[in-house]
Amino acid sequence: MKIQVEQSCPQCGGSVTLSVEDRLLTCPYCQVKSFLQVAGAFRYALPNRVRAEKQGQILYAPYLRFKGNIFTVSEAGIAYKVLDTTQDGCPQPGLPPSLGLRPQAMKLVRISQETRGRFLPLAVNLQKVLEKAARIHALSHKESHKEDEVLYHRAYIGETLSYIYLPLLPREDGLFDAVLGEPLAHADPAALQALNSTPFRPHWQMQFLATLCPRCGWTLDGEGDCLVLTCSNCDTAWIIGKNGLTQTPCTIFPGPSDTALYLPFWRIRVNLPAVEIQSFADFIRRTNQPLVPRKEWEQQPMQFWIPAFKLRPKIFLRTARQATISQWRLTREGQEKEMRVVPNMYPVTLPLSEARQSLKLILAESATNKRKIYPHLPYVRPEVISTSLVFLPFRDRHHDWVQIPGGTVIAKSVLHFGRAL
Ligand SMILES: [Zn+2]
Ligand SMILES: [Zn+2]
Repeated sequence: MKIQVEQSCPQCGGSVTLSVEDRLLTCPYCQVKSFLQVAGAFRYALPNRVRAEKQGQILYAPYLRFKGNIFTVSEAGIAYKVLDTTQDGCPQPGLPPSLGLRPQAMKLVRISQETRGRFLPLAVNLQKVLEKAARIHALSHKESHKEDEVLYHRAYIGETLSYIYLPLLPREDGLFDAVLGEPLAHADPAALQALNSTPFRPHWQMQFLATLCPRCGWTLDGEGDCLVLTCSNCDTAWIIGKNGLTQTPCTIFPGPSDTALYLPFWRIRVNLPAVEIQSFADFIRRTNQPLVPRKEWEQQPMQFWIPAFKLRPKIFLRTARQATISQWRLTREGQEKEMRVVPNMYPVTLPLSEARQSLKLILAESATNKRKIYPHLPYVRPEVISTSLVFLPFRDRHHDWVQIPGGTVIAKSVLHFGRAL
């Protein structure tokens, strides 16, 4: 679902259309770059047609938009589903249970401290909403779980959770959908008005922040949907987070002269006590890889290498598995250097938090003998020791990008598709 939002530039006031995935606004009129920062979820509303003097009477009903991938690990294997849905956050008789296709049929508006009217409370449990959404949308073929099948693990990855409010206008003759101006015949305006609604709350306010390097003041580089900005002056990398910019350790493996692309990976060093994995050698043994662990692998801490960019679920898992298993080739042949900004660096579009949530899935995906790993998954509590962002070199091979050294292969078509996820 492609959803757009109408946004005015904080510098010149020009009207800009953004995708709801965008975290960076580059104004086409004044060229000023700003990034969008909010303490919690982003909040939007469908545009209403209510006259200005009546805006204060609007009741905003919350709908939760979830976009992401749901993965499950069961005896049958790993299954997944791409989910993009809105669910009512304050279920009331007469209100639609979902916004359906409406958010993509019109440009949304961002709610802000200027928005008048009142907001109905969120009356559902977020986890329950996700579980319900997962049930409604039957998972991929493998997933058709039999009722009695054991579910070892479930994860939501690459998720965006945002609020899209439906504006409603209570009138003496009933409740009206303020987008279309149509009556909601089965709704009870009195019941809605009796709910514990609030005006706009200050901590919902989205801020525009300057994209200046916190260390040296240089303008940071990044594209619309990227989550990490880089400074080409002092060669640092900054995560766009809930509290502004935070620096992340960042390195690069410089490739040979025919390197066509650098792809970012989150490298997460972990202990997995429940499955007795501390070293890379432990991992190779526990997941039964067709490799004989070398002596030096016993000293090599276990690291997961997870794509820091969005990919389709199946390819995301496969790429993470390939990069994780082939890490020994990197440490043997590659030269890790402090990050420096070079051309052809692919943007980071998958946040570190999501990468961390995928650790157990990648462990499951790597297991050649399911029975040795799957039953332990509910007890695995990854102890994360350190995290960093690493750019790896890829060569252009016809239809694929091929990692050098390492051999992780990603189809070009897939990577392009990933930007639209
Ligand atoms: Zn502007
Ligand atoms: Zn800098």
